[in-house]
Amino acid sequence: MKNDYRDTVYGVPKKNIINEKKALEERIKIEHPKVKIIYNQINKKDSEYNKQFRNIYNNKCAYCGITTDVISSDLFEVDHFICESSFNGDSINAGKISNLVLSCKKCNRAKKDFIWSEAYSQRLNVDDDSITELFYRDEDYSIRIEQEFIADNIICSFHRKLKLDEEIRRLDYLLMSMYGFYNKYSDDKNIEKILKCIILLQKKRNEL
Ligand SMILES: [Zn+2]
Repeated sequence: MKNDYRDTVYGVPKKNIINEKKALEERIKIEHPKVKIIYNQINKKDSEYNKQFRNIYNNKCAYCGITTDVISSDLFEVDHFICESSFNGDSINAGKISNLVLSCKKCNRAKKDFIWSEAYSQRLNVDDDSITELFYRDEDYSIRIEQEFIADNIICSFHRKLKLDEEIRRLDYLLMSMYGFYNKYSDDKNIEKILKCIILLQKKRNEL
């Protein structure tokens, strides 16, 4: 299987995001038969549905892969994958669970109302990992565009607009890897030394 640029080697096992989202939508419909816009239920901070939705994504941004290890859970949002403005006011369809993804604030704000043609919705699909065909993580931890898509305007714009090329993405990946290492070897007697380094690096990152 292809590497997923959003995961470190210490990542938790993937879930079937599409199926789990469908199941959550069914549950909401049964428990709240009058609800039309699923987004409003899932977007309610601290609600059970919001918590479940975050869990489906392993508390991880669907675009850049950052987790709650590195940034606070307050910095995660429910994003309309195909932006709301593309639905011409049809909030019910825009707010269907299949169009909602968990995003960090940085990616969500950067993406804003980025519009692509229909064919790209499948190419950029973050739930079935299609997006991992377009980008990869190089050995310096940068998120790069696969050679075959380097001339593709939409894919390049997506990469640039979501700021996947920024330096902080590398630092965040390093931190995610370090936290993963720490969790995996938490019984080792020397692990606290690593934790000291992680905390220092995290402090520096938060000052950026
Ligand atoms: Zn992100």
